[in-house]
Amino acid sequence: MDFTSFNLHPKVAAGVTAAGYDTPTPIQKQAIPKVMAGSDVMGLAQTGTGKTAAFALPILHRLVNSGNRGHVRALIVAPTRELAEQIHESFVSLGEKTGLHSTTVYGGVSINPQIQKLKKGSEIVVACPGRLLDHIQQKTIDLSRLEVLVLDEADQMFDMGFLPAIRRLLTHLPKERQTLLFSATMPIEIRSLANDVLKNPQTVQVDTVAPAATVSHALYPVEPHLKTALVIELLKHTDTESVLIFTRTKHRAKRLDEQLTKLGYKAASLQGNLSQNRRQAALDGFRDGSVQILVATDIAARGIDVSKISHVINYDIPSTTDAYIHRIGRTGRAARSGDAFTLVAREDMIMVRSIERVLGNPIERRLVEGFDYNVVAPKKDVEFARPPRPPQQRRKPAEGAPRSAAKPAQAAKPPVAHEKVAPIGNQPPKHRNNRSQRGH
Ligand code: AMP
Repeated sequence: MDFTSFNLHPKVAAGVTAAGYDTPTPIQKQAIPKVMAGSDVMGLAQTGTGKTAAFALPILHRLVNSGNRGHVRALIVAPTRELAEQIHESFVSLGEKTGLHSTTVYGGVSINPQIQKLKKGSEIVVACPGRLLDHIQQKTIDLSRLEVLVLDEADQMFDMGFLPAIRRLLTHLPKERQTLLFSATMPIEIRSLANDVLKNPQTVQVDTVAPAATVSHALYPVEPHLKTALVIELLKHTDTESVLIFTRTKHRAKRLDEQLTKLGYKAASLQGNLSQNRRQAALDGFRDGSVQILVATDIAARGIDVSKISHVINYDIPSTTDAYIHRIGRTGRAARSGDAFTLVAREDMIMVRSIERVLGNPIERRLVEGFDYNVVAPKKDVEFARPPRPPQQRRKPAEGAPRSAAKPAQAAKPPVAHEKVAPIGNQPPKHRNNRSQRGH
């Protein structure tokens, strides 16, 4: 089967050819005809399965086929600005010959350029929920003639506390519309949202819970204090292209990046503290190959779409099986193959068994030959401790001031081993389910 069987509008088919897609992925095979037929669709597909084109192509086909231009006809809602940018880029490249316009709308950047672009009249808007509601409130976006709504990565939007915003958004949209909802997993809250927003939906499903079959998994049992040394050993002995390493906290991400950089690796880290410019620079570097190893937390890595990630390394095991699926969904994309390595300490075994249940198979345990597993832990594990603050200068009391006015010098704070990971992107209002977003 190839793309010609969908009978896409020639201007859209030209975009498929330009993107170099030969064969539709399974989610595309299932979803494209159903979306083209006008049905509401619930898509169970993780990132990396080609789901963006699965909704972008039929939407472009619909919009280019009827001549209405200059107002918003398709709205795609996504959890992070990175994902919003990627979806927008897919629309731009696949729709290059259509003359349709796509605009992104998300927080963390000035609202005025977005208002200007919206004024010019885009047919497609890709948005994060918070800023989209701002535009609705300020009446700087007109959604009254919306025809298609896509809720992408709905489970992540739920994780990030966006469901109330989505429900508010729905009250501003025309009732008569086509709605598509994509999610990698189906927590009860998403099922209930789907019941409310989808009319007689067709379900399409690829690898509901199991990750892409092109990914091979391995566990590396190791004492916690040897994790960094083992990662370095693994990198030395593995033929890698681009490596995405996950740590539990942003502090650990930063520390590991510093250690790898010191050893000469082209590494960078992505953590919630970075400015948007520095995040973008790290992501661009990772995409163009000037950064070979990206160290990130789950939150910071949301929405990363780099199709050639050869290895995902879980420096710290994720705290949920869903997070494992999301993480390793970053490798083995489309038809490529990828490896997922997970470093596991003794206390991670319960999570390992949960992951194995989801995968339906035990994961191979591996030892790295020649690696000294017997190095004993330092008395105090200071690897991830911050250096103590320099002692603060005692301020001399002003001449003649009463003694009690001078504060005693503060004791240096004890080193902090882990810190909380702040959410990124459109700052979500509240975490309803933030298990995977916490540090220690
Ligand atoms: P997605 O799941 O939408 O994030 O897509 C994952 C990656 O697969 C992206 O880099 C797409 O450009 C690529 N892709 C999507 N569809 C196809 C296809 N039919 N053939 C080859 N690559 C594809």
